[in-house]
Amino acid sequence: MAVTIFDKILAGDIPCQKIYEDEFVLAFRDVNPQAPTHALVIPKKRVERFQEYKAADPIDVGQFFNRVAKVASELGLEKRGYRIVINNGADGQQSVEYLHAHILGGRQLAWPPG
Ligand code: AMP
Repeated sequence: MAVTIFDKILAGDIPCQKIYEDEFVLAFRDVNPQAPTHALVIPKKRVERFQEYKAADPIDVGQFFNRVAKVASELGLEKRGYRIVINNGADGQQSVEYLHAHILGGRQLAWPPG
């Protein structure tokens, strides 16, 4: 697996604006925010694409989504709501081959996505 920018952030080789960290995930601000609040959550156990979760331990999957919900809560997004986005593969416009959930909030988001 090629080293990605998120591997480097996780290793501490590249700085990030950290929001939350525990033994399972790291959450940090997106460097190019698409909403007033735009966070990224990555699992510490490296997964390249979301589709790998079909064969993953459900506990790992559950922990990841539990932490996504926790980070959104800590960002104060629960009252007004927010969107979770996982871009997967080429058609999904995934640009970093390290699974990450985007949390977007702080404004009325449009639908459908492009
Ligand atoms: P995706 O297109 O779903 O793969 O999303 C990758 C995201 O990573 C984009 O929203 C980028 O703005 C974001 N990103 C790239 N490099 C960094 C970085 N060094 N720190 C924080 N976010 C980054």
